[in-house]
Amino acid sequence: MIDTVKVSLTLRDKAINQDEQSVLITNFANSLQEKDLTEPHNCHGFGRVRHFRLQTDTGWNINPLPILPCIKALSLEATDMIRAQVFQNAVCNWRCWYCFVDFKLLSGNRQFSDYLTCETLLDYYQEQESPPVMIDLTGGQPDLTPEWIPWMMDALIRRGLDKKIYLWSDDNLSNDYFWRYLSKEQIERVRSYTNYGRVCCFKGIDELSFHHNTNAEPSGFELQFELVEKLLGLGIDLYSYITLPALPETNFKDAIASFCDKIQAIDPNYLLRIVPLKIFEFSPVVARVKDLQTRLLEGQAIAINYWNDEISKRFSIAELALPITDVVLKNRQT
Ligand code: SF4
Repeated sequence: MIDTVKVSLTLRDKAINQDEQSVLITNFANSLQEKDLTEPHNCHGFGRVRHFRLQTDTGWNINPLPILPCIKALSLEATDMIRAQVFQNAVCNWRCWYCFVDFKLLSGNRQFSDYLTCETLLDYYQEQESPPVMIDLTGGQPDLTPEWIPWMMDALIRRGLDKKIYLWSDDNLSNDYFWRYLSKEQIERVRSYTNYGRVCCFKGIDELSFHHNTNAEPSGFELQFELVEKLLGLGIDLYSYITLPALPETNFKDAIASFCDKIQAIDPNYLLRIVPLKIFEFSPVVARVKDLQTRLLEGQAIAINYWNDEISKRFSIAELALPITDVVLKNRQT
């Protein structure tokens, strides 16, 4: 079982150079993840273009993230697909069995990574003929190196790109490094930066499914709620995913109702900003699917129905029809 506190500190040390303001960034060349890319990697191997789509899979909820936040921020025409320039930091403290990233790209392995500043990343990004209008800072776990986000914001401002590009980042809700390592000025930069959205991922519907999915201590499940509450208090444009794999014998009705109660105790409307994410078997995942994971996938198929039932009980038809970007939060108007 992963000792999240210990592993996080070790990986953070490996993944950041404060003096140079650089972060260990994944290079996709010759990696297993490279096989799943629909376009060749770019930015000298350190980037990839991802096509985000509203439609996911037949019978599953659409995924408006990060398409709708980007359209709204940049006042773009409606679309069901958007391209994003993705950069991955090369460390993650968890090992979710369904992660589409090759685990070799999560351990700070220098065979597949190098220290790059945000200025260099933007140099590479701007070399393209038609760079995507969105930059996605993902991982790995970007929040092992939370400085990466305000450093990128500062670099975009210096180049006059902050109003032209939408910035999106992920957070696996595993640590408080955002609060521990960022200065007041950096937190204020993140809070006040206009074209920024952040997605925090809940990994499971209860302690057991969280543990099965991440291989971390079950207590990490509760910490996710505390971390989301703090970020919501900041008033940034926050969204979440939830992954639903769980043992088929789970009491889904009670577990999902309890999850929803906890979220609504933080913010009554935040549930409408949580998107259930379907797990697919990408290349790095196939070898990890054993008996347990097969059963967790069976549970995922059951859980989505309970999730949709529970949400529909808690909101009106009009509320359920709201675009995710129009869901008002306690600390943030849309
Ligand atoms: S937290 Fe994200 S990056 Fe880390 S192992 Fe899980 S899915 Fe992969």
